[in-house]
Amino acid sequence: MRSVDVIIVGASLSAAAAAKRLVDAGLETIVLERKELPRHKICSGILSPRGHRFLLENFGPLPREALHEPTSCRGVTFHFPSMVSMPMDFFGGPTPHLHRKYADYWAIKRSGGEIHDRTSFTGLEDHGDHVLVHARQNGEPVEYRARQVIGADGPSSLVIRSIYPDYPQSIPWFFVGQKFHDIIDCPLSPDYFHFWFHPGLGHYTWSHARDGRQIVGVGFKRGDNFAKKHQNVVNYLAEKHGVHLHPHTEDEGCGENFGPSLINRYVFGKGNVLITGQAAGFLNMIGEGMSCALHSGAISGEAVVEARLRNRPVQEMYRRMIASEVRRTTDQWNPLKIAFDRPHEADFPAALMALGWRDRAKVLRDLWRFVVLYKEFKWGRQMLRVAMQRPLIGGYSMQRWL
Ligand SMILES: Cc1cc2nc3c(=O)[nH]c(=O)nc-3n(C[C@H](O)[C@H](O)[C@H](O)COP(=O)(O)OP(=O)(O)OC[C@H]3O[C@@H](n4cnc5c(N)ncnc54)[C@H](O)[C@@H]3O)c2cc1C
Repeated sequence: MRSVDVIIVGASLSAAAAAKRLVDAGLETIVLERKELPRHKICSGILSPRGHRFLLENFGPLPREALHEPTSCRGVTFHFPSMVSMPMDFFGGPTPHLHRKYADYWAIKRSGGEIHDRTSFTGLEDHGDHVLVHARQNGEPVEYRARQVIGADGPSSLVIRSIYPDYPQSIPWFFVGQKFHDIIDCPLSPDYFHFWFHPGLGHYTWSHARDGRQIVGVGFKRGDNFAKKHQNVVNYLAEKHGVHLHPHTEDEGCGENFGPSLINRYVFGKGNVLITGQAAGFLNMIGEGMSCALHSGAISGEAVVEARLRNRPVQEMYRRMIASEVRRTTDQWNPLKIAFDRPHEADFPAALMALGWRDRAKVLRDLWRFVVLYKEFKWGRQMLRVAMQRPLIGGYSMQRWL
């Protein structure tokens, strides 16, 4: 059995950031990844300026293979049912359009952690002074012993389920699916990620260019018909935006733990087990999760290092140190912060003010109608209540954290 300082589960961006901090501090770190690397990851690959800065500062300039075509993204364009469109550029200029398969592999290799791919975490036992980790490597059982474990294994985290079996039932879930189309004609700018605030299309609808094709994606809830929802969007894009696409050639989808960061259902772990990245609940309101995965991952690694240096319990250090990232992610859901403080690093207020007053009124009305759509979900009602209260009462209460 291999005995190391830290085992990280998952070889994504949060894992790379955590491993970097641990290895830099001289801790022996193994990263377990269930898939063979480099592995596919469903993601639009739109990186916020903060995520870009993190990658540059910690891993250096991105290699060309870690980028899709177009290689960069200027920002996000919001579209409304009243046919007003609002392009918003990221502060500081375009950011790289990440090809997650290669960008994640590049980052994890540069972290210096020892990578064990085709190795699925299956369970753990926390014995207080060490954790026993069970996994399957190429189908064969394998065990590791570590002082700490970091679960960086994404939204449907098995590490969380091994310490809190009921957690998945206590948070909101929804599904996203996207289809890839060859393009006949597409007037949507390939330089932006496009997002529709349109109740008739669904609660999460997007499109963007990638490697010569157009992606059309929709969010849906359990029991909804993905194909029908997607076709509805394709028809709408053709009719309203003049986007003409060939039938799709590929599709994919997954479940997402959307909303824990709004309602404070973050989960940070127990005993010697830390949870980070999207597994912990870090994801903002437009589904951007890479920058908070990187930052929370780095903090989990730093917390392990600090706990050892100060001889303090690792949970105590992590919960204290992660508060800044919680605040930052939660602010990205806060309507007042969005209106006045630009937490998404793109200028929503300026884009709104650039519109004539009639269009501005239409946008505000459309936004309200869109937000009300969330009332149809049990969790949506709770989210709305918290979103409305948050600007009034602050709302960074930690009482709901696990
Ligand atoms: C359709 C879609 C589009 C998105 N677009 C964007 C975007 O444009 N910009 C953005 O910032 N974010 C986007 N996101 C969100 C972003 O992809 C995630 O928030 C981010 O990847 C989270 O990173 P992570 O490190 O926490 O975990 P993940 O990226 O989810 O990685 C978890 C890793 O753990 C591995 N793993 C899981 N279980 C096990 C196990 N049992 N044993 C071993 N390994 C395991 C997985 O294989 C994976 O490699 C998008 C998400 C989706 C679904």
